Amino acid sequence: NKQVILKNYITGYPKESDFYIKTDATITLKLPQDSYGVLVKNLYLSCDPYMRHLMQEIKGPSVFSSYSACSVYSSVSGTLAYQVPRQSLAKPITGHGVAEVLDSGHPEFKKGDLVWGITGFEEYSIITTPESLFKIEHTDVPLSYYTGILGMPGFAAYAGFFEVCAPKKGERVFISAASGAVGQLVGQFAKWMGCYVVGSVGSKEKVDMLKNKFGFDDAFNYKEEPDLDVALKRYFPEGIDINFENVGGKMLDAVILNMRNHGRIALCGLISQYNLDKPQGVNNFMVAIYKRLRIQGFLIFDYYPGYSKYLDVVLSYIRDGKIVYVEDIAEGIESIPKALVGLFEGRNVGKQVVVVARE
Ligand code: NDP
Repeated sequence: NKQVILKNYITGYPKESDFYIKTDATITLKLPQDSYGVLVKNLYLSCDPYMRHLMQEIKGPSVFSSYSACSVYSSVSGTLAYQVPRQSLAKPITGHGVAEVLDSGHPEFKKGDLVWGITGFEEYSIITTPESLFKIEHTDVPLSYYTGILGMPGFAAYAGFFEVCAPKKGERVFISAASGAVGQLVGQFAKWMGCYVVGSVGSKEKVDMLKNKFGFDDAFNYKEEPDLDVALKRYFPEGIDINFENVGGKMLDAVILNMRNHGRIALCGLISQYNLDKPQGVNNFMVAIYKRLRIQGFLIFDYYPGYSKYLDVVLSYIRDGKIVYVEDIAEGIESIPKALVGLFEGRNVGKQVVVVARE
């Protein structure tokens, strides 16, 4: 059983050398007698920026300690059943994935079921809290989609945009980190709503992708903009109604300056801050008061009770070819450290997935 283990708690930017691959030869592909869990074969593992928060040592009070304490909705009972685990140095790292059940001690799961949810980054895992898993009923779409468009990031794009941003036709929408797992969908949802949509990304290839593949009205490479305030004024001369924020830092500061009165900002993520010892904070909050902005952070776990409705909507759009989804697929457990590190260097083009085994 090949496993990805954290060698040391991470400070600053993650490096491939912060991880190592271990082979655990003691695995038996059978659950212990009285287990209430499930034994799964992991098929697709999902590299997600939030995993970085769980890989640092928490000494004393920290903004990130509240993150690991947040619970995950139970797909089985409907109650909150699980805590996002901190990564340990002894066990494989954990994250989202798609897996096949090989053995089950839980009445709701049986051999052969396909599931998505939090699993170990290894070939085979025993999941002791299967209540946190979602059963996969629709297999006419790529299974890897349950790490992205049909899983946690896709649902975050949907709930964050429709529930938090409350968009109206014709509004002007700005999305940062717009080509990734979440951003590419927010842009397409905003176009369904008849909004004007601009995204920022870190390369020319991604700019072209936003405009030509996802149908954004415009896009720019933030790395080539000496002044983000000037850049936003170029694309939004009349200001921004809705900002779906994935980056934070200087980008969020420039966005606040360019919001229209009563605009809405959904704080989905602040990836530019995740590897800093001292997060930069926001300088322009006073402007947010003058402009009467509504700035709302959200965590997708809170919306999980509405997941099946989301699934119905988005599956029909996928089947009708009305939405596209770009994945960046790496092969094999060994590629996980590089894929994880790549998220923070903008190396992924689309949703970063790792294939561990094919169904
Ligand atoms: P992505 O697939 O977009 O991958 C991360 C991307 O962020 C990179 O490819 C890179 O793209 C960009 N990036 C990395 N570092 C920086 C930086 N310093 N400044 C600007 N851009 C940077 O990730 P996701 O779509 O999965 O996640 C997007 C955001 O949403 C993250 O902040 C994540 O934490 C958050 N999130 C929040 C959820 C919630 O429940 N609130 C749920 C899921 C995700 P580029 O080339 O454009 O720089």
